[in-house]
Amino acid sequence: MKQPVWFVHGRPTVPQGPLARYRPRQPAGAAAEYVRQMTAPGDLVLDLFCQGPTFVRETVAAGRRALGININPVSLLVAGLGLEGPPDPAALNAAFTRLADSPKGDLPLRRHLEQFYRTRCPECGAEGSAEWFAWDRDGRYPYAKLVHCPRCEEPQEGPTDEADVDQARRFEPRGLAYHYGLNRAIPADHPARERAAELVALYTPRNLAALMDVVVRLEELDLDRPLRAALHGVLLSAFDRGSSLDPHGEMRPRPRLLRPPSRFLERNIWLLLEEGLAGLLRPARHTLPVRRAPTLSALLDDLTPAYVLVPSAARDVGGLLRPHSLPLILADPTRPDGVFWALCALWAGWLWDAPLARMMRPFIRRRRFEWEWHQTALQAALAAAAPLLTPDGYLVMLFVEPDGELVESACLAGCGAGYELSGWGADPETGCRLVWQPRTRERGAAPPPPEESELADLVAGLARACLEERGEPTPWPVLHTALYTGLAPVAAAHLSAFTTASRAVRRGLGRLGAELVDDEQALYWLPELDTQPPVIPLADRVEEMVRETLLSRPYWEGDEPLLTICAALDGPLTPDYSLLMLCLDSYSVVEGERWRLRAEDDPARRAEELKNLRRDLRGLGKRLGFQVGKGRGWDVRWQEDGQDVFLFVLSSTAALGRYLLRGPSIPPSARPCLVFPGGRAELLAYKLQRDPRLARVAAEGGWQFIKFRHLRRLSAEGLNRQLFETVLGLDPIVPGEGVQIPLVMGEEK
Ligand SMILES: [Zn+2]
Repeated sequence: MKQPVWFVHGRPTVPQGPLARYRPRQPAGAAAEYVRQMTAPGDLVLDLFCQGPTFVRETVAAGRRALGININPVSLLVAGLGLEGPPDPAALNAAFTRLADSPKGDLPLRRHLEQFYRTRCPECGAEGSAEWFAWDRDGRYPYAKLVHCPRCEEPQEGPTDEADVDQARRFEPRGLAYHYGLNRAIPADHPARERAAELVALYTPRNLAALMDVVVRLEELDLDRPLRAALHGVLLSAFDRGSSLDPHGEMRPRPRLLRPPSRFLERNIWLLLEEGLAGLLRPARHTLPVRRAPTLSALLDDLTPAYVLVPSAARDVGGLLRPHSLPLILADPTRPDGVFWALCALWAGWLWDAPLARMMRPFIRRRRFEWEWHQTALQAALAAAAPLLTPDGYLVMLFVEPDGELVESACLAGCGAGYELSGWGADPETGCRLVWQPRTRERGAAPPPPEESELADLVAGLARACLEERGEPTPWPVLHTALYTGLAPVAAAHLSAFTTASRAVRRGLGRLGAELVDDEQALYWLPELDTQPPVIPLADRVEEMVRETLLSRPYWEGDEPLLTICAALDGPLTPDYSLLMLCLDSYSVVEGERWRLRAEDDPARRAEELKNLRRDLRGLGKRLGFQVGKGRGWDVRWQEDGQDVFLFVLSSTAALGRYLLRGPSIPPSARPCLVFPGGRAELLAYKLQRDPRLARVAAEGGWQFIKFRHLRRLSAEGLNRQLFETVLGLDPIVPGEGVQIPLVMGEEK
């Protein structure tokens, strides 16, 4: 088998559907590529921590079989909804109507719940329905509301009145719904009972009463599995958005604490259900049907591409599959997100009877999820999965969020669980990829774990190597991954590897003298490298590789150019997604799915163009009364009284390192100018932005960047010297502030 490409960018996507705000972004298209390279049609692929539909969908779409597991049935429900696509709208509407019509006392459920939120319009006084009430947490009363008024044309926001406060207080804090909700979540004698009670109290008595009414009525309906799953999805969104955890008057993407904000929203549960239903009925975009196998054994007995989702802890995966049955395991490790896990444990209890919900109970109690704990749990899971891999099988960890300690945990857990790293890559935008194989060589007696100061030396060496290789200030996610992939095989032997390694990293970086040179982009650099002969910055090497790649064939299909470049550049040299896309944009035209080198970038045409521009520049210089020459590294020199006044280099690329870092020296009297094609403007501006060192050198040297077409215009006009100097500076590299980075965030498929 050809060596796989270790780093596949994919495209960053935003999760869709219920609980999207808690779920990690997953790169679209990356799993598909690993599946294509590392497995054969009919093979079985495991999604070890299935948190969404992406990996499973792409695996089945590639003609393989997929098993997704997760101990969290809520995550599996969400993944399943994304895989099945929306059920038949007529059937779903009918099921929802049955729910709405199921009797509650003398009324249908819908009427009963609508009464909970009856209120008067703050504008005209007509009776309407509140979309939400805003509460004062400590005063325990609703102080504001948004009302759907039948008389006014638009929703009206305003203060609550006495009737609203009375109405809210009619719902008892420790009423029937509270006890029902608590008992469903956890039995009375369970040690986590008190903690569960705190979670149930994250709902206002009114919303809890509404939700429990819906839970009971939904359970009584006899529904097919897909319809029940769809309505569970709708209910799950209502559980999430109907709690007291969202603030009034400020945007917060998701709750970080299990405590209501001091001013929180109480949303109308019935409206949330209707919204959820409408969301499901909206025609889903790009969703291809994915075949679901009825059971795991059905999936295992038949090679037809299909998937099945099984609720199981990752560390128990050994009981589900035969040894050596998997050529590929995909793993986006679950995060130690205490808020999400506790809420899921509560909601699982509300949606399902034991045993699904029982598996989640430990997460109700665990108050603090630490990374050290994460690493231990991840290591146990990876160790359990290792025997399932075929002898040349791969474990691919892929995750988008590069911040936090996930990289550390993943590297240490992989090594600790007996894997060896085959390749890796990291990018601030599309995340981290770690490709592992089970260690085949039996290690002899393990050497004693190294001292922390030895580890710090190792870190210093790794950091220096990474920065030297890239030849440019390096984003922390890349440096961080470079350090941990190098450090983990040694540090994993320590008893408390996580703490030891992170201390060693701090000490090692300090010892080396690596500095944070740009806060916003989290760029690290080693200032002493500035005094050494500079290497070509990675950005320039990437650009040249893109140019050569495009030049080498009449056209390229789909992701081919990206994969070709990443096959050559990975690990510390992983190119960032924006840079690659800007290079491709600058040098190619896209026709359908095909990339083709731009006609104007044909080397012969560029050479001719440069020749003409040099001639124009010489002519212009003479017209303005300069002595014109060349040499000392400059294409054209304009001089006066033997002194250089303007110095020009002409380039058909946006390479900056060779002029700004390694270029000829600039006499104090002279202004250096780089003349470049307008089609490189965005790329050039991006390079200056992503490398503050280049920007500084450009500013200090007084570099002027002139587009080809601007220069042609200047030569055509009858300028005098003064006018020339004025007009020269009037063409910014790119109009407007900053650079538009062509990072297109897609939607999860
Ligand atoms: Zn009104």
